[in-house]
Amino acid sequence: MITKIIAEEKIQAVKKKIEESAEIVIITHLSPDGDAIGSSLALAHFLTFLEKKVTIIVPNAYSDCLKWMPGAGQIINHQEKQAFAEGVIAGADLLFALDFNTLSRVGNLAASVGDSPAYKVMVDHHPDPGHFADLTVSYPQIASTSEMIFRLICRMGYFTDINKECAECIYTGMMTDTGAFTFNSNNPEIYNIVSELIKKGINKDQIYNNIYNNFTADRFRLMGYALNEKMKIYPEYRTALITLSLNELNRYHYKTGDTEGFVNIPLSIEGIVFSVFIKEDTDKVKMSFRSKGAFPVNRVASSHFGGGGHLNAAGGESLVSMAETVKKFESILPMYKEELLSAELRSES
Ligand code: 5GP
Ligand code: MN
Repeated sequence: MITKIIAEEKIQAVKKKIEESAEIVIITHLSPDGDAIGSSLALAHFLTFLEKKVTIIVPNAYSDCLKWMPGAGQIINHQEKQAFAEGVIAGADLLFALDFNTLSRVGNLAASVGDSPAYKVMVDHHPDPGHFADLTVSYPQIASTSEMIFRLICRMGYFTDINKECAECIYTGMMTDTGAFTFNSNNPEIYNIVSELIKKGINKDQIYNNIYNNFTADRFRLMGYALNEKMKIYPEYRTALITLSLNELNRYHYKTGDTEGFVNIPLSIEGIVFSVFIKEDTDKVKMSFRSKGAFPVNRVASSHFGGGGHLNAAGGESLVSMAETVKKFESILPMYKEELLSAELRSES
């Protein structure tokens, strides 16, 4: 039995809008992860079954390890096809905004999404949703947007029409947003849903391999370098920091996705509750934050680095140099000393 978490009037409103619309566009966040791509493709498979014209548009590139997903070949990257993507957004009847809570999360797509006459539906699980959508379906207690898509399709009465391809995309997002069910995954209903997806014919072990056992040797050499030479431990704050400059990334032939998961590794060190990964990009410095227990990394990200996210996984960015970003980071650590020292284990759900 799966609880009806999403309000009935939201389900009916989404259903009605889908019925009334012919051209539907799905947008997801910058540097899309497994949940962003998984939820977008899952919804696209479902809408295609309903014979709707559907286009998925992403703001920029995503990891090669997600490209095996059924339908991924149809995804439009705004950076590569700007005019086409903006034309589709301007001409859509209905726009789904998946896995993000504010327009700033779609980068250069923000203006076209904001200006589009399409009816906008946000489906997301990040705290503090913004107000850009006409209909906001936001449930931070749900572990992934992909799980929300499963719940939405079922509640609209289409469980039997979820095919294997759609199920594979849902599973991928559920798996990646919980670190393969190692965090934020204590809700027993997650496993009821996984059970239903397996009955749809997915091979969960194969999906795990596609995502987590499919990296290049260069990535592991970069990881070795990062851990051996670039990891700084602040024992008095139970914190670890890894930084990688563009120069260092290039030395290991960096490709999008190669540093995925690096930020999680220091959390395996006894006593470490807060891990930060700072990566230099061409136009900014990108920051990833992770924690164990009650330490709220989304608060650190939003208070100091223009970002946000979940209690235990958040991100932000900095427009000053790497050295200055590290200096700023080190200067804020003392403010959190007490919380870092008392961050006993507590899961998000
Ligand atoms: P990651 O560290 O994997 O890039 O992101 C972790 C989490 O933080 C994700 O839930 C993501 O949506 C959120 N996040 C990452 N970067 C940003 C950012 O720049 N702004 C906001 N608001 N959230 C972010
Ligand atoms: Mn997500």
